[in-house]
Amino acid sequence: MSVIDLESFTQEPFRQPGAIRHDWTREEIRALFALPFPDLMFHAQTIHRKNFDPLQVQISTLLSIKTGGCPEDCAYCPQSAVYDTDLKAGKLMDVEAVLEEARAAKAAGASRFCMGAAWRSPKDHDLDAVCAMVEGVKAMGLESCVTLGMLTPPQAGRLKDAGLDYYNHNLDTSPEYYGQIITTRTYADRLDTLDTVRDAGINVCCGGIVGMGEGLEDRVGMIQTLANLPSHPESVPINMLVQVEGTPLSGTTALDPLDFVRTIAVARIVMPESMVRLSAGREDMTDETQALCLLAGANSIFYGPKLLTTPNPAQDRDMRLLDRLGMSPMPL
Ligand code: SF4
Repeated sequence: MSVIDLESFTQEPFRQPGAIRHDWTREEIRALFALPFPDLMFHAQTIHRKNFDPLQVQISTLLSIKTGGCPEDCAYCPQSAVYDTDLKAGKLMDVEAVLEEARAAKAAGASRFCMGAAWRSPKDHDLDAVCAMVEGVKAMGLESCVTLGMLTPPQAGRLKDAGLDYYNHNLDTSPEYYGQIITTRTYADRLDTLDTVRDAGINVCCGGIVGMGEGLEDRVGMIQTLANLPSHPESVPINMLVQVEGTPLSGTTALDPLDFVRTIAVARIVMPESMVRLSAGREDMTDETQALCLLAGANSIFYGPKLLTTPNPAQDRDMRLLDRLGMSPMPL
């Protein structure tokens, strides 16, 4: 019989249910993934309700401010210059064009505007424009987020001074599987950038991608690494691989959607106060899978017709889904 109550989570391996911990063991996280699905969902939903209004979803909009031509070799990414995809590389957008998009995002209900640039790391002169974008977005009353690759401490300081709220830098996968996905920079590089961002006083947005051919143990390892960072990322995007022809991961066997939901639920349990974001891959998910993700504790979505360079569900489909579920966008 698999009936549980919260009492059972006070026993090993479920120590201190709902506590903020940074000492999760692989065994504990493996045990969470292995729970019967109804028990896992119950536990995740219980922790979710202790920390958040379960009927509200935070809405972010993501804009690619500089597309393609990236020197990194992330095996999932059509923006890498290493792979032959149909993507056309572009220059950094003008500040005013970006702010126009931010105004439209706000009018459509977004509370956070995220800007992504396909760089290994930003050049100092590019940062002038990005700082002006951050200042403009903040002046509209929106939260700001950027993802620009690796950062030096002075660059992080400049972004902080411009008013940046969040910096996105994903770990992507487990330390063990990482080398199968990226060879042009190390897991340690990623952790260093996260430290740099945190030290500058900027909130961290950090998660990963599943469905890249990794095993369960890699999903366990990725969630463990995220949960055991010195502070939990304020925002944890969990992406389902969007397969793009021409990238090495095109043709990878698709992940069972219920395994994706399990990953969301375990993230919610081990990072109780973080916003868990349902990110790339929603376009290919049924409304029912997305509903299960929200029930598992996801409470943030990207909204808008495109996620950097891959399609995202049309905005009215998102709003209809929230409405059908009796849920609504989280106010700023
Ligand atoms: S994921 Fe980012 S760093 Fe990696 S290739 Fe794409 S744009 Fe470059």
